[in-house]
Amino acid sequence: MVVPGTGLDVGDALRVLRRVFGYDSFRGAQQEIINHVAGGGDALVLMPTGGGKSLCYQIPALVRPGVGVVISPLIALMQDQVDALTALGVRAGFLNSTQQPSERRRVESAFLAGELDLLYLAPERLRAESTGSLLDRGTISLFAIDEAHCVAQWGHDFRPDYLALSALHQRWPTVPRIALTATATKATHAEIASRLNLVDARHFVASFDRPNIQYRIVGKNEPKRQLLDLLRTEHPGDAGIVYCLSRASVEKAAQFLTENGIEALPYHAGLDARTRAANQARFLREDGLVMVATIAFGMGIDKPDVRFVAHLDLPKSVEGYYQETGRAGRDGLASTAWLAYGLADVVQQRKLIDTSEGDGAHRRRLASHLDAMLALCETVECRRGQLLAYFGQHSTACGNCDTCLSPPETWDGTIAAQKLLSTVLRLDRERHQKFGAGQVIDILLGKTTPKITQFGHDSLTVFGIGTELRESEWRGVVRQLLAQSLLAVEGDYGTLVLTDSSGQVLSRQRQVLLRREPERAAPTAKTAKPRRATPVDLPDAAVPVFEQLRAWRATAAKEQAVPAYVIFHDATLRQIATEAPSTLVELSTVNGVGENKLAKYGQQILDTLAGAAPVA
Ligand code: ADP
Ligand code: ZN
Repeated sequence: MVVPGTGLDVGDALRVLRRVFGYDSFRGAQQEIINHVAGGGDALVLMPTGGGKSLCYQIPALVRPGVGVVISPLIALMQDQVDALTALGVRAGFLNSTQQPSERRRVESAFLAGELDLLYLAPERLRAESTGSLLDRGTISLFAIDEAHCVAQWGHDFRPDYLALSALHQRWPTVPRIALTATATKATHAEIASRLNLVDARHFVASFDRPNIQYRIVGKNEPKRQLLDLLRTEHPGDAGIVYCLSRASVEKAAQFLTENGIEALPYHAGLDARTRAANQARFLREDGLVMVATIAFGMGIDKPDVRFVAHLDLPKSVEGYYQETGRAGRDGLASTAWLAYGLADVVQQRKLIDTSEGDGAHRRRLASHLDAMLALCETVECRRGQLLAYFGQHSTACGNCDTCLSPPETWDGTIAAQKLLSTVLRLDRERHQKFGAGQVIDILLGKTTPKITQFGHDSLTVFGIGTELRESEWRGVVRQLLAQSLLAVEGDYGTLVLTDSSGQVLSRQRQVLLRREPERAAPTAKTAKPRRATPVDLPDAAVPVFEQLRAWRATAAKEQAVPAYVIFHDATLRQIATEAPSTLVELSTVNGVGENKLAKYGQQILDTLAGAAPVA
């Protein structure tokens, strides 16, 4: 069958999928998107991380005449992307500011000679007229605009250079454009379409569910220790990312993990470029490293076997949280998204917003982002349902998040809320004082600390009226009232103040439902699935073979100076270990074994299998 208006055969795309990439069939809307773009149409693709966006432009670029130009902000990853394509036998190159002039000239002449299938381009290069005239002299099969949400100011990764991409269509009106992103709120979606001038584009919106990721949000207690427990019990030897808010906390957490026998590397904007690049390269290339980072790390990281993403601090928005956690489990295997969250996070984030630069509208936008994130943390419903609802999509209770696995109890916290709010009110009215959560809770509990005596707070009528709750429970009440904006924090010391809505609670017009605080720091084992000592989906007998294949892959990756997953993904090695093919023909049926890799590594794999312990 021929794609309308092109003379291209639909079967071409499937043949390329099998021969080059070694996959049997398209996923989700891939086929439809590929046909549409290969036929010359514009497309806007919203698909979650790991959904398979790359093929949506790589295959059309391979079946259409000319070179596919990929605009990407991820300069530090272009080399890896090109290496991965080269390993598949695809002719790819990149142009960015990190290159030597001689290397740039080599890529430019390959482009002009039509000797490339794909050319990766940093957006700032398009500002130079020399780039425009270079593109004019070659044949372009399509423009792919990767990480398209970078054009949106509403989102969290805005790059001014992306705004210039609206001009692509004016200069090259006949070249199809495909914009792709894993960010999906309605606001961002609309902004991408308008800013990139994608007037006639077809929109493809996939489900944003990542079923293999288990979402868990726990009360913060001793966060680094809680993290260590998680890694030891559920993710020993696994690769993962730990996000922290500040450079200092990144350094501390990385050091803590290292001291406790878990190999961890730091990454933040305060490190020099060389150290950052080296740490990123090690994380991508070696198996089982933990990257402790600020959110400066991660966009475009396509390491498929990140088994967990942990947050030691509260993300600023649901979009950010979804992006960051989305870096786990691109290979589709079971992965964990874990967040530790507590009262101090809410206080800190509210303070950051109050002191942030920008106008009132900007601050309101930040506050609404934070409110949605807090609602996700405090929900008693399925986390996944809440997450997807944020993106305008629906789901039933998922069975693979903490609230589904062990549903939290709720309790009527109206009276507790009244006690707390009236303590804040009395301090203000009777003493003209403001205090942070610690002192307010001490008053409620009737503790005679030096600070209580100093301020004479033991003579307040509310002194000791809250002994029915433990301190941790009171902290939970404060946190949840802050999250619901029934209480607010102010100033450098995080002092508590009432809000416009506090009165509704004090006057009994409003009921306050709260999530029950666990007895101690929630034991992770209770919510977790039984820990697998070995990678999932792998029969016990195949484990030693898998480990041998991994060792072979590590050596091959080192020799070629490419990340291990460029050779083969874990999922592919797992299938090989399980099926134990004995001929090249059998091996070629494994998912992820295309023509080029079969020719290059097939015999080495068979030799490794022959030398490995037999599958019982
Ligand atoms: P995204 O860019 O959307 O995050 P990728 O393009 O990196 O996702 O794809 C995620 C993973 O899924 C990659 O390992 C890729 O090789 C694999 N993949 C993509 N499409 C298919 C397919 N049709 N069949 C099997 N694996 C696929
Ligand atoms: Zn759920």
